[in-house]
Amino acid sequence: MKNKHQYVCINCPLSCSLELLEEKGEVAEVQGAECKIGKKYAEEEFKNPRRMVTTTVLIEGGELPLLPVRSKSSIPKALVGEAVKALADVVVKAPVKSGDIIYPNIVDTGVDIVASRDLPKASS
Ligand code: SF4
Repeated sequence: MKNKHQYVCINCPLSCSLELLEEKGEVAEVQGAECKIGKKYAEEEFKNPRRMVTTTVLIEGGELPLLPVRSKSSIPKALVGEAVKALADVVVKAPVKSGDIIYPNIVDTGVDIVASRDLPKASS
């Protein structure tokens, strides 16, 4: 018996509704994709869903109190909550440049968390 899993492809504005049919833990078929990108997306969502991490960390001495940060690449979806929790304790010092590594190897994923923007020191 095949089980159905529904996804929406996020790779272009068409937002195709995808239906993945799975049998005994293996992908049997993907329906609804207008192109092969959607088929691959549904297979990845089923086997190993990944997400980018975007959040903010505290910054001392900056023009703003919070620094937006993001992961350099996606991490397993199941670890996103743990990653955000780890970043909740981080405090960095201004100035910061966009792309500076704020937290290397977040939750042992091999992925660094970097600053999403420049944040200069507050002028006194
Ligand atoms: S399956 Fe292809 S056409 Fe459909 S939303 Fe994804 S990328 Fe776009």
